[in-house]
Amino acid sequence: MGNNDVIIIGAGHNSLVAAGYLAKAGRRVVVLEKRSVVGGTAITEETFPGFKISPIAQTAGYLSAEVKADLKLDSQVEIIPLDPIASSPEPDGTHLTIWRDTARTVKEIARFSPADAAKYPLFVERMTKIAGVVQGLLKMTPIDLPSVGFADLRAALGLAGPVFKLGRKNINELLRLLPTPVEDLLNEWFESDVLKGALAASAVKDVTWGPQETGTTFTFVYNWALSDTGLFRSASLVKGGIGELTKAMAETARGFGAKIRTDAEVKSINVDQGKVTGVTLANGEEIQAGVVVSGASPRTTFLELIDASILEASFVRHVRNIKYRGSASRMHFTLSGLPEFPALAGSDTQGYLRGPIQIAPSINYLQRAFDCTKYGRLSNAPYLDIVIPTVADPSLAPSGKHIMSVTVKYTPYALRDGNWKAKGPEIAKLVVDTIAQYAPNFPSLIVDQTLVTPADLEAVYDLPEGNLNHGEMTLDQFFHMRPIPGYARYRTPIEGVYLCGPGCHPGGGVTGLPGQNAAREILKDAK
Ligand SMILES: Cc1cc2nc3c(=O)[nH]c(=O)nc-3n(C[C@H](O)[C@H](O)[C@H](O)COP(=O)(O)OP(=O)(O)OC[C@H]3O[C@@H](n4cnc5c(N)ncnc54)[C@H](O)[C@@H]3O)c2cc1C
Repeated sequence: MGNNDVIIIGAGHNSLVAAGYLAKAGRRVVVLEKRSVVGGTAITEETFPGFKISPIAQTAGYLSAEVKADLKLDSQVEIIPLDPIASSPEPDGTHLTIWRDTARTVKEIARFSPADAAKYPLFVERMTKIAGVVQGLLKMTPIDLPSVGFADLRAALGLAGPVFKLGRKNINELLRLLPTPVEDLLNEWFESDVLKGALAASAVKDVTWGPQETGTTFTFVYNWALSDTGLFRSASLVKGGIGELTKAMAETARGFGAKIRTDAEVKSINVDQGKVTGVTLANGEEIQAGVVVSGASPRTTFLELIDASILEASFVRHVRNIKYRGSASRMHFTLSGLPEFPALAGSDTQGYLRGPIQIAPSINYLQRAFDCTKYGRLSNAPYLDIVIPTVADPSLAPSGKHIMSVTVKYTPYALRDGNWKAKGPEIAKLVVDTIAQYAPNFPSLIVDQTLVTPADLEAVYDLPEGNLNHGEMTLDQFFHMRPIPGYARYRTPIEGVYLCGPGCHPGGGVTGLPGQNAAREILKDAK
């Protein structure tokens, strides 16, 4: 198959964004996806008749506003903002809810600690400024330390505004805080366990660390920088499920002339004398192009699709050393009615149940849930992040019925005993029993259930070790070190091969940013 300028491997959302930008710029693009559907981890399926479930990614609050506008996604999908952004029911029947509106949240916090309530607005203001600096980095092509050039310095000028706003004193504060455990940050501000638990949960939601681990302040700030709420976590759904968003991205790319093929697994990236020539599919078909962009993980790209013997040993060693270590599972339930969380004012459909519910009553609870992971075991008191999407979007299920989707942490990919097939029923029971402690009528409402384990994330969705983001989102794997030092600018050691997935800067979440940044660099190289 000829006549292509660019081959894009995978049809995850970042690949589709890159395809949109490249096709819009006049490149002849073909996207090759191994699965039968487009969207990668951002899909929605009718897992059970009449119920539209987003099995992996669900919330869309990280999506870049610029990508949305450039690819005209606004007119194709409806974003439903969730409010509250987090509710934490407590074992003693109380609850803390955090709303988009600071004044409303202050009233909630005051029930636990008037001192914390008084400090919360200043905390929001300070963290917003700190997050502003990280925000400035997201759209940048990382600087190639230590060889910084004039163009890098010019690009870094974009940071001047947020840095200036933050002020010199707070820059020091930012540098001091980022590597610390989020527990330390929160202890400096607050006294109540419930508030600290509610905030810390977002810092560890997407990584395999507990809140007492080094660098979790960075993940807290990173989520703040990306989020659509202006706060510590994002909270939006796409009407009809997140798969509607990736369908729209595919439509946009097709509209600009891109071809998208499913059931088209790339088996190898072909290279001749250091330059890419195209790819070979699993069925033996060869497709030629001078540019190949991989939306697959760095591990898949460099250790499976490219013959490692043509890469330098030190490069391969760095790629092998990327940390993945997945520890999240997803569980979905179809329900005959709405569960009642007595702590959350009954089944108040227009209120508390509209937003995410966190089973994260304190920092110690979160840390204990994590501790077992170090030894390849499951905690018997997991941290759960629950969304009942049908409250805000009843179109997802038959009338009166509901879907509950749960992210379960921590469930380590590398189990000490047994295997994931055998562990599945244990996790499922643990999740049901844990939720029942907070919503006693929950088990009686369950009609169907399905579990996605870290092993499934690897086998079905091609996520190494079940990691959410093609590599842990830790400070040592951020910016110029993502995916590895020296190769953070979307280019690779093979001329014409680029990366565009969350394994490169700025990393994970349905942001569209790695795809957008990669497309910009590819177009620059073509000039
Ligand atoms: C359990 C879980 C929950 C999450 N929840 C959220 C959330 O609620 N909100 C959020 O913003 N983010 C969430 N994320 C993170 C988010 O899904 C990812 O960071 C992001 O979607 C990655 O998008 P992508 O397009 O770059 O890659 P992917 O979605 O991983 O897509 C890569 C694509 O490449 C294809 N591929 C791989 N190898 C080949 C090959 N050899 N040939 C052809 N095709 C290939 C794969 O099949 C896949 O379709 C979650 C992730 C997980 C795992």
